[in-house]
Amino acid sequence: MSATVQSIDTGPEEAVAPDALTDGFHLIIDALKLNDINTIYNVPGIPITDLGRYMQGAGMRVLSFRHEQHAGYAAAIAGFLTKKPGVCMTVSAPGFLNGLTALAHATTNCYPMILISGSSEREVVDLMQGDYEEMDQLAVAKPLCKAAYRVLHAEDIGIAVARAIRSAVSGRPGGVYLDLPAQLLSQTMEAEAGANSLVKVIDPAPRQLPAPDAVERALAVLKNAKRPVIILGKGAAYAQADDDIRALVEKSGIPYLPMSMAKGLLPDTHPLSAAPARSLALKESDVVMLIGARLNWLLSHGKGKTWGDAAKQFVQIDIEPREMDSNIKIAAPVVGDIGSCVSALLAGMGDDWPVPPSDWTDKIDTKKQSNMERMAPRLQNNNVPMDFHGALGVLRTIMAERPDTVLVNEGANTLDFTRSVINMYKPRKRLDVGTWGVMGIGMGQAIAAAVETGHPVLAVEGDSAFGFSGMEVETICRYDLPICVVVFNNGGIYRGSDVNPSGGSDAATTVFVKDARYDKMIEAFGGAGYYVTSPDELKQAVNEAIDSGKPSLINAVIDETAGTESGRIGNLNPQSVVSKK
Ligand code: ADP
Ligand code: MG
Repeated sequence: MSATVQSIDTGPEEAVAPDALTDGFHLIIDALKLNDINTIYNVPGIPITDLGRYMQGAGMRVLSFRHEQHAGYAAAIAGFLTKKPGVCMTVSAPGFLNGLTALAHATTNCYPMILISGSSEREVVDLMQGDYEEMDQLAVAKPLCKAAYRVLHAEDIGIAVARAIRSAVSGRPGGVYLDLPAQLLSQTMEAEAGANSLVKVIDPAPRQLPAPDAVERALAVLKNAKRPVIILGKGAAYAQADDDIRALVEKSGIPYLPMSMAKGLLPDTHPLSAAPARSLALKESDVVMLIGARLNWLLSHGKGKTWGDAAKQFVQIDIEPREMDSNIKIAAPVVGDIGSCVSALLAGMGDDWPVPPSDWTDKIDTKKQSNMERMAPRLQNNNVPMDFHGALGVLRTIMAERPDTVLVNEGANTLDFTRSVINMYKPRKRLDVGTWGVMGIGMGQAIAAAVETGHPVLAVEGDSAFGFSGMEVETICRYDLPICVVVFNNGGIYRGSDVNPSGGSDAATTVFVKDARYDKMIEAFGGAGYYVTSPDELKQAVNEAIDSGKPSLINAVIDETAGTESGRIGNLNPQSVVSKK
């Protein structure tokens, strides 16, 4: 058979004529299925259109997006949710590059993902003779992912897929690029030899047991702590060691802080949650145990004002040995997979582990109560136009009543307020912008969350953030997914009230169309649109939308002056010392 440009115009042909032969298309499908990879997030086009068709024909779920970046974000978060590599498939050069942002994002966030891209012919690319969509994709991908492989021969497909899977999920998970030149797809080989060339990966993410002396060292540091705190990161959520992590926190009696995507690992209402007293817990602690959380910018690199002057010792559990001492000295590194490390610590704690001194836990509790009391009335306001707190007070109640709902969240103020206001009750239910704080993950993550978990999804989106992936509402409608998108519409980036400093007629750089009707976008594709201006209306609309199990978009009008510049990270904006405006 031929599988290049001609066959794309005419639809899929009969798979492979002689029974005794197989080809690149079918070997890829067989290799993925053999390894239990049955869902593909893709955008069709040359040279992978037929590959997608054959995949669907072979019973795989192939979801087609409107832009590769969103297919990529979907694959990345699917990896986080399932501990299996999420697969994104794209066309060559431009499609590949569109998918690459998500691959880099997956690697940065430690999500297992495989980006499969079709590519042009090596002979032409390497001589730079100007092939259709010519690009040395392998070289471009390499610095942005954990591993990058190119397959030139059909008989290597089995090994290549196995390597890609193992690279993505073993050790610290991350993104892997798999380059498939167009000619490979139609290469044939004997079916029996082909079947024999496939590899079912045994134990793709082997347990990594911590050294016993490392566990003892960590326990000794913890035991002497006067003001200990545990920080749970998204690595802890990824590890799916939920019961042991909860047991460790409860047995130790140590207050814990969840990083954004670790919220719900223990319910946010847990008595040991120190989240509402975060500043105090970080500043005044004397021992900090990090579980699957890096001391990167999100934790102020472990130093400075955030952490205060009190002398501190750090215990860190991570699968990646090089993470230790990356920002500050780690007194007790525990290297291994979180499941194994946490169960070793639990075993080592024995039955008479001392709880932390009560002056410390009482101090945290007092602060927590007073912060929560201060917040409560703001969440109950029914102001029109809505502010973030009024709107989120409503969503907070809805999430408490529907704890299985997956919350996708992006924006600036919308992200910061939602993270702190909405309690999570179950693990891996909060999916947000991750380590880069990237805008654009919204619809891709919402789609993957619905597809992978089968639960309803509530996507709480800033209007700017939503714009990055808004066209994927068509995808949501096409697959009839139970996704309710709430756009917090304050008419701009950070807020909608900026003015053009020149006095000219162009809108200010951060401002969008006034009174934009995002709800009409989803109506164009058959979904349900809602326009709401008060918390009461918002509550009614979200409940109705989630109950329907249908695609919906709620345009929630927020006071255009309610936001602040860059939300809580305005300090990262450089300031000009000479500009006049
Ligand atoms: P957060 O942003 O929530 O603090 P990070 O992404 O900074 O989380 O950190 C996640 C950490 O978890 C990474 O250092 C990664 O190596 C680690 N990690 C991921 N999966 C595992 C696992 N199964 N076992 C141990 N560590 C893991
Ligand atoms: Mg906005």
